[in-house]
Amino acid sequence: MTPDEMISAIPIPCIHVSLQGRVDALNEKAVELFGAAIRGRHYITAFRQPALLDRIEEAMAHGKSVTGRYIGRQAGRDTSYDVSVAPVMEGGQPAGYMMVFLDITHQEEAGERRSEFVANVSHELRTPLTAINGFIETLRGPAKDDPEARDQFLAIMEREAQRMIRLVEDLLLLTRVEDVERMRPSEPVDIAALVRSVASGLTPQAKAKQARVILDGCEGEKPAPGDSDQLTQLLTNLIENAIKYGRDGGQVTVRLEQLENAVELRGPGLKISVSDDGEGIAERHLGRLTERFYRVDSHRSRGVGGTGLGLAIVKHIVSRHRGRLRIESQLGQGSTFSVFLPYN
Ligand code: ADP
Repeated sequence: MTPDEMISAIPIPCIHVSLQGRVDALNEKAVELFGAAIRGRHYITAFRQPALLDRIEEAMAHGKSVTGRYIGRQAGRDTSYDVSVAPVMEGGQPAGYMMVFLDITHQEEAGERRSEFVANVSHELRTPLTAINGFIETLRGPAKDDPEARDQFLAIMEREAQRMIRLVEDLLLLTRVEDVERMRPSEPVDIAALVRSVASGLTPQAKAKQARVILDGCEGEKPAPGDSDQLTQLLTNLIENAIKYGRDGGQVTVRLEQLENAVELRGPGLKISVSDDGEGIAERHLGRLTERFYRVDSHRSRGVGGTGLGLAIVKHIVSRHRGRLRIESQLGQGSTFSVFLPYN
């Protein structure tokens, strides 16, 4: 069997390099990564990345296995590979070297996302903590005997502390939702009753903005398979956002529709849409709204007590229900957040 035949069945890029350092066999996956033209070339001109070349040289000099790293570029984005270079032994002597490329792009991206997330959380917590710390110092020093300033600072400290509590609660919630994301709920819940109950629970927030919350199609029973606590959370986040980012004295409409055949679901399901008549969201933000801590206007979001996690939580809840989320908005015309929940 030739080296080409032997490696043809391996589903990841594999390349055989002769003792003279020439590429003498490569499988289909390696052709996709490097192109067929590297066949017959010396490994130095085939791979070109000094760090990897050093590792190959080391393997060949000592007849041993080494690992290295290769940074590729496929479909316009960087890809990372763990590369193993190992001697192929024949009669106790290396007869060539097999290079195997393991794609670790996804792990690297997950690692980067984790670090970014930790940096974001730290930043979100540091801001209120710094504020509280500053006020403690002021209360101990300059404002020690000033009862008016004390009341004012204590009120701010309370607000900042509540913000941290909300942030930590949202983080815990996000983790819990992610934990069960693979377990799809099967018990039917009455979505109409959930909407009525969430809307009535948000009456104080609506009153504070003099907003009206209108329910459309939410009478009677409208069941769909779901997790009642999570759907309550989803409705709370969407309706609360519509109130928060809607107009003062504006109108929020929550509409329920049963669909025989929703294109979004490729089948029957329930559509929940929450619309406001606020200032809307520019198109370039729409695709990123469900990212953790993504805000159109950070100052405004913090001002209304936002954590920047509400829509990320919504996205995960929708995904657990195998549903779809659609966000439509136009500047000056308000926004509509629609959730499609499948019946089966
Ligand atoms: P936040 O806690 O900041 O409200 P969310 O994840 O719920 O976080 O929302 C992310 C961002 O999306 C908000 O900061 C806001 O800029 C924007 N947004 C969400 N809902 C609306 C809405 N109904 N109208 C306008 N902007 C909205």
